[in-house]
Amino acid sequence: MRGWTVTDSAELYGISNWGAGYFGVDPSGDVVVHPRGEGGPVLNMPELVRDIRRRGLRTPLLFRFSDILHSRVKEIAGCFETAFQTFNYEGNYRGVYPIKVNQQRQVVEELVEFGRPYSLGLEVGSKPELLVALALLESSDTLIICNGYKDRAYMETALLAQRLGLYPIIVLDRSTELELLIKVSRELGIRPHIGVRARLAARGAGKWSESTGDRSKFGLSTFDIVNTVDRLRSEEMLDCLEMLHFHIGSQITAIRAHKDALREASRIFVGLHQLGAPMCLIDAGGGLGVDYDGSQTNFHSSMNYSTQEYANDVVAAIQDACSETGVPHPDIVTESGRALVSHASVLVFDVLGVDGVTRGLEPSAPVEGEDRVIQELYAVWKNVTHRNVIESYHDALQLKEEGTSTFNLGYLGLAGRARVEEFFWACCDRILRIVQDMEYVPEELQGLERALADTYYGNFSVFQSLPDSWAMNQLFPMMPIQRLHERPDRRGVFADLTCDSDGKVDQFIDLRDVRNVLELHSLNGQPYYVAVFLVGAYQETLGEVHNLFGDTDTVHVHADAAGGYTLEHVVEGDRVDEVLSYVQYDRRHLLERVRQAVEKSLRNGEITLEESALLRRRYEQGLSGYTYLERED
Ligand SMILES: *Cc1c(COP(=O)(O)O)cnc(C)c1O
Repeated sequence: MRGWTVTDSAELYGISNWGAGYFGVDPSGDVVVHPRGEGGPVLNMPELVRDIRRRGLRTPLLFRFSDILHSRVKEIAGCFETAFQTFNYEGNYRGVYPIKVNQQRQVVEELVEFGRPYSLGLEVGSKPELLVALALLESSDTLIICNGYKDRAYMETALLAQRLGLYPIIVLDRSTELELLIKVSRELGIRPHIGVRARLAARGAGKWSESTGDRSKFGLSTFDIVNTVDRLRSEEMLDCLEMLHFHIGSQITAIRAHKDALREASRIFVGLHQLGAPMCLIDAGGGLGVDYDGSQTNFHSSMNYSTQEYANDVVAAIQDACSETGVPHPDIVTESGRALVSHASVLVFDVLGVDGVTRGLEPSAPVEGEDRVIQELYAVWKNVTHRNVIESYHDALQLKEEGTSTFNLGYLGLAGRARVEEFFWACCDRILRIVQDMEYVPEELQGLERALADTYYGNFSVFQSLPDSWAMNQLFPMMPIQRLHERPDRRGVFADLTCDSDGKVDQFIDLRDVRNVLELHSLNGQPYYVAVFLVGAYQETLGEVHNLFGDTDTVHVHADAAGGYTLEHVVEGDRVDEVLSYVQYDRRHLLERVRQAVEKSLRNGEITLEESALLRRRYEQGLSGYTYLERED
């Protein structure tokens, strides 16, 4: 057997396929981060984790790499600039960041700061998000795109934002919003910037595409759009209609879907211009994908196009429709969220232990008098070969069943049944080793790998930190961050800390399909950290406090040129008493109840004074502590 190298690990986990140049493996076998892309400074992940733990923070730990955010903003805007040159496009690019994708203040603030040179604005879909945008943006160069359901308060606030020198565009999502907008703007004496959201016939592609098409929840049909134009004209407000908006869903996997939508939307845009609206902006929504598995395909966790191809197609479609009809090129808005923020966040958790059907089992030969089933299983185990794997598997299965019935009938003792299991798993282990080298795996043996996988217990909650993994079966790249110069000798799945059987990760990225197991190392007494990558979009704030596991500690890391780094922000995770207060438990009340119970036991002589002091101390510390397990090291 050839030795194992870090290159083998890099290939195994596909880090250069999905890492987008931000992540790699160094010669010592550690995962490294290139937060400004290749050629820039390099940060060693395990060292970062160790340093940060020494500062008193804890795992699970969420990293946010500010430089990656910065780099993504630059990259997407850069692709549009390139496309403008390629197609001699005369408008400007004015991206907006949809706050709902990651609402954390530090993330939004950093995006606003990094986005200033590119006029990156904000997209809001609710009143709370609008209030955030109002406070964070400062100039009319950056747009505030106002989507979502709107009431009077929402509209008044958005209109008044113009008085602060901002540029809010109120997007009519439903036709009923028009009358309210006309009324409110008349009362305030502020002429609105109006957009209309078109409900396209073109559909998205991928898991999130249901939100589009003729029956989607949002958007105006062409019939509604034409009526809107008439109504605005009759109110002498047609000059306020500036923007066409559409959004065909998130994580659009196929470029074809973008192209279809763009062709249709560009025609609507031109049509609106021809009806007399001074259209100067077209907003192509979100949907720019992230290649989570690195396969570059239209699989749901991938995408079959690059950011540059996307930008080219957006620009080309609009340019085509406008040039053909003599309509001036509008400024182009996109609302890419996922593509902007996914890469910047990495979740790191420690493995608490491993549970598995022991690999390489070498059971001792049966002795005289052991049950026939055990003798026969032994024979099967001894004789597994390439030629008879399926037959051996059938025999082993049948014998295991026989063993169970013999046990149920009382003819086989508990120790005997344990021997049956031992031999059965030993057979499966041998069979699996053969299967793993086979070109073609027979269907009935395909589940074997999953059945024999070790369970790695991770110090994290899927529901809190990876909700889409649970709710949508979305795949995220995962890998150990150390020991990558060693051959991973186990195959495992992850179980989280919750008592929920759904609290697990047992689907992993693969270039062709989905894998049921991930290669991992046997634990060696040292901390074993696993990272989940590309978790910056949608995961952080949809999370729920299942089993009362709360937010993790979070650090914002900024790399400096000399190879060092600064922690720009540290956001401590939820304390136990905070999480408890979300479900209406009050710290003082809990303490008082426990104090009373302790007093009663003291009175009855059921607890010593020392024990009572220790219990109360632990209880208080528990309330102030981390909701996850804290390792001693
Ligand atoms: C969610 C949403 C987005 C963000 O989509 P991504 O796929 O994350 O880029 C953009 N626009 C609207 C209207 C949305 O609802």
